[in-house]
Amino acid sequence: MRYYDKLVFELSREGRSAFSLPQAPDVCLPDSVSRKSALELPSLSEPDVVRHYTNLSQMNFGVDTGFYPLGSCTMKYNPKINEEIPGMFAGVHPLVPAGAVPGIRKIYEGIDSALAELTGMAHFTFEPCAGAHGELTGLMLIRQYHISRGDFARTRIIVPDSAHGTNPASAAVCGLEVVEVKSGPDGLIDVESLKPLLGPQIAGIMMTNPNTLGLFEKDIAQIASLVHGCGGLLYYDGANMNPLLGVVRPGDMGFDVMHLNLHKTFSTPHGGGGPGSGPVGVAPHLVEFLPEFGNRGELRVSGFHGNFGVILRAYAYILMLGRENVPMAGRLATLSANYIKESLKDCYRLPLQSICKHEFVFDGLVNDGARDGVPGATTLDVAKRLLDYGFHAPTIYFPLLFHQAIMIEPTETESLETLDSFIEVMRKIAQEAAQDPTLLRTAPHNTPIGRPDETVAARQPVLKWTKSN
Ligand SMILES: *Cc1c(COP(=O)(O)O)cnc(C)c1O
Repeated sequence: MRYYDKLVFELSREGRSAFSLPQAPDVCLPDSVSRKSALELPSLSEPDVVRHYTNLSQMNFGVDTGFYPLGSCTMKYNPKINEEIPGMFAGVHPLVPAGAVPGIRKIYEGIDSALAELTGMAHFTFEPCAGAHGELTGLMLIRQYHISRGDFARTRIIVPDSAHGTNPASAAVCGLEVVEVKSGPDGLIDVESLKPLLGPQIAGIMMTNPNTLGLFEKDIAQIASLVHGCGGLLYYDGANMNPLLGVVRPGDMGFDVMHLNLHKTFSTPHGGGGPGSGPVGVAPHLVEFLPEFGNRGELRVSGFHGNFGVILRAYAYILMLGRENVPMAGRLATLSANYIKESLKDCYRLPLQSICKHEFVFDGLVNDGARDGVPGATTLDVAKRLLDYGFHAPTIYFPLLFHQAIMIEPTETESLETLDSFIEVMRKIAQEAAQDPTLLRTAPHNTPIGRPDETVAARQPVLKWTKSN
């Protein structure tokens, strides 16, 4: 353990301090509110405090410390200018009347029309504060649409088996019954399995395209006309719009409602679950149901106008790239993903061989090193070993269609050199697994924490130091 890994309370020495304040005037506080015993705060010098926080920050892994190829989450690098711009608006209180800040209104109008142009939707609401929140908003809107037509029977929603877990969860929260449609062996929605599910009870279908396996649903036009033909609407989960930006638009594919994850595709740091923004866009015939737009938009799903800081970052990102460069993002992300896939498919099992979009899935090691009495290395072990080499692990054990899933999404923001060094390390780990799987099974060897019990860490987190610890 290094000296500064010690906790601040252990470094504390009475009388030390990192601040100097002018003498406070004598104020008589009522006895009922005055403190009876001293606050238990550590006494530290300024360098102790600075080193404490700097060292803490280095115990974490972020996209600013290294490559973070987390499939389905688009951990692209977040340009630093995006952090400066929200700071310029820090003085605007959420209760300021809209008329007093016309510039902010212009920002909302600007990003609304930029996103409409990128997606082929008519308008967006910026109230939803996450992707899942957007899904719920969009589904409520679909229900309202059917109900407004006197069509009360549409209570079922079709969701593919490859969908992100939030899709069925949002549908259930919205009171819709989820009907699963199976993927074919090619990882795409099987149109023949879809047909018998359609009927007068179907509110719509939720889809991601490219889907969660990183594959483009090539039958989307046929699917759209089948679902519309039965009276349902098409919901597009645009959390991972990255590969489509400036290339293909959900509106042109026939989708009626969609959400975007500004915190994924439009560069807001989002490790650890926030902050987020999941604006919902609709085709022209549904604008009247959109919060803040139509006279039927009684729906309100958050206070004020959503997560303004995230919206600003997204707008800055779009304007910095500009109309002519936005399409490069998706193309580069797709090229990077295919480059890694092709470079590693002799060491890692590749269940779906076709060209991928922004991400793809391996199904564990080709040779996991298992032999008599020695268990082989798993996907978890590969992920842990990657940390020793300074790379964040890809998404693992998702999607659920494969038992040893490793889902890799490099994004467009990485250089060829970074991709090459990741490939080299992944090949080295595959070699290590074949020769000495125990080395992987005991990894990571170089990080402050190795293999915490993730359930306990999530359910009973220890967030502060107490003496009994
Ligand atoms: C991340 C993601 C979501 C959910 O977004 P949150 O902001 O985490 O609620 C939904 N669908 C897909 C495909 C995603 O990748």
